[in-house]
Amino acid sequence: MDLDDTLLAARAERVDEDVYAWFGSLLAAGVRVAILSNGDKDRVAAVAAKAGVPAVAMAGKPFAHAFRRGLRLLGELPRERVAMLGDQLFTDVLGAKRAGLTAVLVTPLSPGKLPHTRLARLLERWVLRER
Ligand SMILES: [Mg+2]
Repeated sequence: MDLDDTLLAARAERVDEDVYAWFGSLLAAGVRVAILSNGDKDRVAAVAAKAGVPAVAMAGKPFAHAFRRGLRLLGELPRERVAMLGDQLFTDVLGAKRAGLTAVLVTPLSPGKLPHTRLARLLERWVLRER
């Protein structure tokens, strides 16, 4: 799972307790979960520790090495059994598809805090527009 604008808004300080409860449900059901974020280490580590899941920060999505690191955290599951959840088409979805994973694009929780994220959102809307 991506972190920023997927599990919490990019400018938010805390993840909702409902999200942690959801993590708990997933883990209890035997679903392996890891956070794969391009965000900074402290922010990612705090959420991962509270959620009880491993994480890669400053991952470098959409590049393949990021997804290899994430897959390692999941215990090298077959790629057809792994889904990436994220809010960005050109990092989360593109990287996941190139890695042979299922990609789940979620609606972003905020417009994004970084200029390049805001630009990417414009391009995403153009790519995803109904034809
Ligand atoms: Mg994100």
